[in-house]
Amino acid sequence: MTTRAIVWFRQDLRLHDHEALHDAIRHADEVIPVFVVDPRVFQARTSFGFPKTGIHRARFILESLDDLRNRLRAKGADLIIRTGKPEIVLFDLVKQLGASWVFCNRERTRQEVNVQDALEHRLWTIGRELRYSRGKMLYYTQDLPFPVTHTPDTFTQFRNQVERVIQVRAPLPTPDHIPWKDTGLPAGALPDLSDLGWSVEEVDRLPTSAFRGGESPGLDRLQEYLWTTHAIATYKETRNGSQHFNDSSKFSPWLAQGCLSPKMVYAELKSYEEKVQSNESTYWLFFELLWRDNFRLIGKKYGDDIFKPGGLTGRLPGSMRQDEQRFHAWATGNTGVPFVDSHMRELNATGFMSNRGRQVTASFLIHHLELDWRMGAEYFESKLLDYDPCSNYGNWNYLAGVGTDPRADRVFNPWSQGQKYDSEGCYVKQWVPELKDIPASYIHQPESIPEDLAEELGFCPGRDYPVSFTGEKIH
Ligand SMILES: Cc1cc2nc3c(=O)[nH]c(=O)nc-3n(C[C@H](O)[C@H](O)[C@H](O)COP(=O)(O)OP(=O)(O)OC[C@H]3O[C@@H](n4cnc5c(N)ncnc54)[C@H](O)[C@@H]3O)c2cc1C
Repeated sequence: MTTRAIVWFRQDLRLHDHEALHDAIRHADEVIPVFVVDPRVFQARTSFGFPKTGIHRARFILESLDDLRNRLRAKGADLIIRTGKPEIVLFDLVKQLGASWVFCNRERTRQEVNVQDALEHRLWTIGRELRYSRGKMLYYTQDLPFPVTHTPDTFTQFRNQVERVIQVRAPLPTPDHIPWKDTGLPAGALPDLSDLGWSVEEVDRLPTSAFRGGESPGLDRLQEYLWTTHAIATYKETRNGSQHFNDSSKFSPWLAQGCLSPKMVYAELKSYEEKVQSNESTYWLFFELLWRDNFRLIGKKYGDDIFKPGGLTGRLPGSMRQDEQRFHAWATGNTGVPFVDSHMRELNATGFMSNRGRQVTASFLIHHLELDWRMGAEYFESKLLDYDPCSNYGNWNYLAGVGTDPRADRVFNPWSQGQKYDSEGCYVKQWVPELKDIPASYIHQPESIPEDLAEELGFCPGRDYPVSFTGEKIH
């Protein structure tokens, strides 16, 4: 009898290093790749009312699905696309197709776990199985020198315990061929942004993006950052920049949707080190990928705590105001602090913000505006192209002093950060055009511009750009 397996693609929209796909090919005569567009992900709102998946990320995911479908077709298969709740849609497909298994990547955060658990329970009622595979991290949990429940709480301890002790495994190859027979089921059209609830005006307003979703563009970016531009060789010096695309790798959107596997990035990095050069910068990219693994393991260890006001510590931060006006100023990039505003405006316009920008804007929301950190975290969740629950909430926990770092209250001075990382104000001027004529010496504090100069420039603080809110914790 012919056996069939469904491969449920989730945030693993690739064919390289795809364990679930390999397992399915090993087990079944026919493999049916499926993606389910879940309205709870694409059309719901967060608890503070932001779209759960903002328009930039929605576009990136649709592009990724298009690319995945094309790559599957080139391997002799197809991607079945359906809309609905995966626990119902997949259950129905299993029955319809007489499939024996559903193979998928295991997710670890609440909403995703609820869905996979619900599907698993339904499948049990008809004697079918959900089989979990791995592929989100550099390391396999079974290779770690500690059980997940004993993951060290600080990054340094984590790094010390893993980096010299265990090896990152080689990525699995892309299958040459995927066993597939036409089941007679329609493949299903790829939805567009309007199907996901975005208006014509919102879609028309979307600028072209430097990030295109999909495994093919993700692999191209890997090639470009390492082998074509060699930008990797100066990563450690440039990674805090916000202005140039090559300041950092920009792998995160592809990593977050699983278009790129972290093991593939690591394998290319090692190859680059062997063939071209190995230096502090090449090591530092690996170091940053370790942060990603660390936050995922912390998410596994602490479960829902990462989403709670007191985070991992259970202690509430000093202030948790939910002041709409302050929040609106922050979210729209109108706080009067140019280094904060420029980053927020870039996020709104593109879905991306540098790591430095994220640290400074998050710290500003928490420590200067004294707002509930969860408002900021949910806003990032909505807007970020690379949103990942563990990395996002883990970093917010950390900055709000409710995470794993023993040094609570990490306050960044947004004015001196601006001077340090954008001394000429080029980045600020790119995103805050009302400051384009302000000289570099005043660009990070435009309200301090002398009156006569302001008059000469026709610039009026408070009229042309907000006067900054100045809290008392600046140092
Ligand atoms: C408040 C806040 C929220 C964040 N939310 C997210 C998020 O939702 N998704 C996300 O992928 N990253 C998040 N980060 C981490 C980091 O800012 C981004 O991964 C990074 O800016 C992406 O750009 P890049 O790919 O060029 O990074 P690079 O500097 O080139 O780093 C390479 C890779 O390492 C990983 N990485 C780097 N820094 C971190 C970090 N601090 N934590 C976890 N992984 C890291 C990413 O996968 C990144 O792609 C957040 C950071 C902060 C401070």
